[in-house]
Formats: sequence, structure tokens, C-alpha cells
Amino acid sequence: MSVAPGTDGVLVDRYGRVARDLRVSLTDKCNLRCTYCMPAEGLPWLAGPEVLTDEEVVRLVRVAVERLGVTEVRFTGGEPLIRPGLLGIVTAVAALEPRPRISLTTNGIGLDRLAPALREAGLDRVNVSLDTLDPARFTTLTRRPRLDAVLAGLAGAAAAGLSPVKINSVLMRGVNEDEAPALLRFAVDHDYQLRIIEQMPLDAQHGWDRHTMVTAEEILTSLRTVFDLSPDPAERGAAPAETWLVDGGPARVGVIASVTRPFCGDCDRTRLTADGQVRACLFATEESDLRAALRAGTDDDELARRWRTAMWGKRAGHGIDDPTFLQPTRPMSAIGG
Ligand code: SAM
Ligand code: SF4
Repeated sequence: MSVAPGTDGVLVDRYGRVARDLRVSLTDKCNLRCTYCMPAEGLPWLAGPEVLTDEEVVRLVRVAVERLGVTEVRFTGGEPLIRPGLLGIVTAVAALEPRPRISLTTNGIGLDRLAPALREAGLDRVNVSLDTLDPARFTTLTRRPRLDAVLAGLAGAAAAGLSPVKINSVLMRGVNEDEAPALLRFAVDHDYQLRIIEQMPLDAQHGWDRHTMVTAEEILTSLRTVFDLSPDPAERGAAPAETWLVDGGPARVGVIASVTRPFCGDCDRTRLTADGQVRACLFATEESDLRAALRAGTDDDELARRWRTAMWGKRAGHGIDDPTFLQPTRPMSAIGG
């Protein structure tokens, strides 16, 4: 067991895990309506003044990098590409010392246009979410006919040198559960890295059902009908994806089995919501309000101390399989996936 958080040092929790990877949600809004994430009508969005300003985001990321040992910053949402100040935020974060690695999780819409400027600003990598290659299925899944825009976004990211380009896919029973091999073929052919994610109980509609979820086991069985998958000799570290070499490599595929093979014991993540709440976990039921503190004039030392205290309380695991599991009140889009 580690010592309780003091006035300096990294984000350590009582189980000795150290958080070096910060996920920052830049907005809870989105231009898609993926069924596993949001209802068709959208959600009651945060009001403008509740959302951190660009300066506030950069200040909190600076505290994390300079005082708390964060080395990776990933911007997400909602859809981070619709945040007007995104380029300025990336530029400011890339100027921090020591410079963190900077990545973005996006649905890819508009990325073809924005990728060169993002790269120039200091963005290192992107993960683009794409669950199907079939236009009709895409429209059913996301409730918007934007498959072409996502494919253009992927190509634009690669052309701009944002490497590696990763694809995140979620499989839904009865919708796209048969598509794992086609998605992997597409990824291998375009030199994108595919990662398939088990669906998690984080949708606003509370429609998740353990019994209908497509499991990692099923995903691997389906991929093996077409590809030879062998264990990846590379160190997994704190990465959520377990990876395999595809047909002997060098192409790889990852499976993020958050539900059936949880990796909480190696988790190195801390999260900041668009309205300035620190969360120790996607599934946390508590948050620590750094926005109120920062707007009340709190100095950087005290903000860092509060962040450490919030992380110290991180639970050992997400507990999805516990009978007492409670889905967090905030949906994925408002936490930042
Ligand atoms: N809008 C961006 C996007 O779609 O990439 C960023 C935010 S989104 C919440 C981040 C990731 O979470 C996406 O890859 C999405 O597929 C995934 N996601 C959303 N809801 C999920 C759920 N219930 N289970 C598993 N993954 C989910
Ligand atoms: Fe939007 Fe991403 Fe949620 Fe889809 S998964 S609705 S793209 S936030």
C-alpha cells in the first residue's frame, strides 16, 4: 500500500497505481447519435458557462503535466473536433514542459480538413471511431448518413502524418456483430490499427445488457475465421487493448475487453470532464470539482493537491460484474471516452 497523497508528487492511488494518462473531454456535444452512446434526440447539454474555457482547460492540463507527472494527454468528448478552440488548446499543450504526447479520439467527421492544422499544432496521433463499412448500417448505428465523411477523415489523418491511425469499433448484436473480419481487412489494407471494444454500460438510455453484449471471445473467434492471430510479443503495459499479430505481422489487431477481461489493475488513467470535474475512472460515482476551485481563485498547488486526493480514492475495479454495480449518472459522451 502506498502513502497517502501529500503536497507534491504523482497521481498515485491506494493500490499503488500511478496515473500518467489524462483524458480530457472538450465538449459533451456530438454530431452523431451512436445508439450505444446517446438517444436519438441527444442529451441535455452542458450550458455554455458550465464548460471550461480554453484557458481553463490548458491551465488544468498544465497542472497535470507540470505537477502531477502526466505524460499523455488525449482529447475526447462528445466530439472534440466540434470544439471551436481545439487548435489553440493543442498548440498550448504541445508547448508544455515536459511536452506530453497528444492524441485525439474522434468520430472523424471533418478530420480530412482539420488534420494538417492539428498535426502542425502538435497533435501526435488519432483514434477514429468506425463500427461498420456498410453505409446503411452506419446510418442505423449513428443515426446520421456520414460514413463517407468518416472514411475521408481517416484518409486525411494518415495523409497528414498522424501516425499510427487507430480505428475503434464497437460491435452490437444483430447490427454489426458479423463485421469484425471486414473491418480488420479494411484496416490492414489501409495501414490503420483496428481495436474492437466490448460495449460497456455507459449509454444514457441504460440499454446495455450483459447477455447480449458481443464478447472478446466471440470477436476473436470471428476474426480467426479469416485471419491467423498470434500473441503479440510487445509489452502490453497499461494499454487497455490486448493485441495480436495478424497473419504473422507486422499488422496488429487489438481487443479491449473492458467487461470480460478487465484491466483495472494496470489502469494509468485520470479523467477531466468538459465542466472541470476530475474522475478517477469511467465508472466512478464520485467527482472532484476543479472548476469551482479554479474559478474561486485556487492556486496551482492546491488544484494539484485536490487532484491527488481525488485519485487516491480510485476504486480497485469497475465492478461491472458485482450485483451492486451502479451505472454512473453521466453517460460516456459527458465523461469523455
Ligand atoms: N466522439 C468521439 C468518438 O466517437 O470517437 C469521442 C467520444 S466517444 C464517447 C469515445 C469512444 O467511446 C468511441 O470509440 C466510442 O465508440 C466509444 N463508446 C461510446 N459508448 C460506448 C459504450 N457504451 N461502450 C463501449 N464504447 C463506447
Ligand atoms: Fe458521438 Fe462518439 Fe458518442 Fe458516437 S460514440 S454519439 S460519435 S460521442
